[in-house]
Amino acid sequence: MKRFVRQNYIGEGGYVFAQSPEEIARQSGLSRVARLASNENPLPPPASVVEAGLSALREGNRYPEARPAALIDALRRHHGDYSFIIGNGMDGVIETVVRTVVSPGDRVVVSTPTFSFYGLAAEAQGGVVVPVPRAADFSVDAGAFVDACRGAKIAFLCSPNNPTGNALSVEAVREILDGFDCLLFLDNAYVEFSGLDYRPLMDEYDTLIEGRTMSKAYSLAGLRFGYAFVPAGLLSYLNRAATPFSVNTVALAAAGAALADQGHIDQTVAHVRRWRERFLAEIDRPVSPSDANFVLVDVAPMTGDEATARLAKKGVIVRSCRSFSGLADHYIRVSVGSEQENELFLEEINRL
Ligand SMILES: *Cc1c(COP(=O)(O)O)cnc(C)c1O
Repeated sequence: MKRFVRQNYIGEGGYVFAQSPEEIARQSGLSRVARLASNENPLPPPASVVEAGLSALREGNRYPEARPAALIDALRRHHGDYSFIIGNGMDGVIETVVRTVVSPGDRVVVSTPTFSFYGLAAEAQGGVVVPVPRAADFSVDAGAFVDACRGAKIAFLCSPNNPTGNALSVEAVREILDGFDCLLFLDNAYVEFSGLDYRPLMDEYDTLIEGRTMSKAYSLAGLRFGYAFVPAGLLSYLNRAATPFSVNTVALAAAGAALADQGHIDQTVAHVRRWRERFLAEIDRPVSPSDANFVLVDVAPMTGDEATARLAKKGVIVRSCRSFSGLADHYIRVSVGSEQENELFLEEINRL
């Protein structure tokens, strides 16, 4: 069968998933495991969101609305008068954007180490990924980034960045956009945790796309809903390239209800801020300051794989950062979980 398969999908590579909690529970013999590997919200979605999703299930015989006017209106009420696309998670949005703009041979610039899906999506279209490494403190050298973008189609910049946790200031992003002639996809998956607001940049630049997800702060990882602020002039092309009906009826209903519940976000953000401070103060190893709902921990002289395996034996699932290209092999990424999960993690990491 291999002869039928594109070179991209032969051999190593592909998206790296966290270890399954069921698998870890079986291996460790523990009934409760701490799930700190995927930056999910430990809180379930609020009751209003569950109700909206359940009602929507009753219309499961019908296709979802292709351009859901009510949801787009809800996004406008929430954020202001911008143009939006939606997708099956932000991953779906990234796929739509890349499919719209990247032809085989086009250069796609990625600030690394970062989320792997930009590169995977770009390569799926035949794009050529150009990594621009961050500095030792994980800051972005705006000049080097802008230089690498000359002649490229699109560049990806994640802020706050996964897996390093740090954010660029709005001014730093503006500095990059000022020198730019390609599109910039600014991934704001964790922006709710940062206190930063990049939205005003949408009014200043027609080369900017800002990606958002409901998988993290909004507790909807399992429903797969993401969206992006896009330049008005690009909207019709993006809609033409998108997979039809990629956002299902239940996700649409849940997303609309979730946008209306600011209390859930405030509660989540307060919990995350408190715990990332505690992680920084109480982990007996170097921890990178974080603007997100996770921290990056330097576990040297162990490797990330070794620390991850040893924590798994204690029922704590974290993410080894070995697969993040451009990052040394001695890091783990740890999400802020529930009180109990975080306490268990603190106890076990300091015993390693
Ligand atoms: C989680 C994550 C996403 C994707 O989110 P989905 O909406 O679940 O597809 C995008 N970018 C970054 C940096 C992430 O960490």
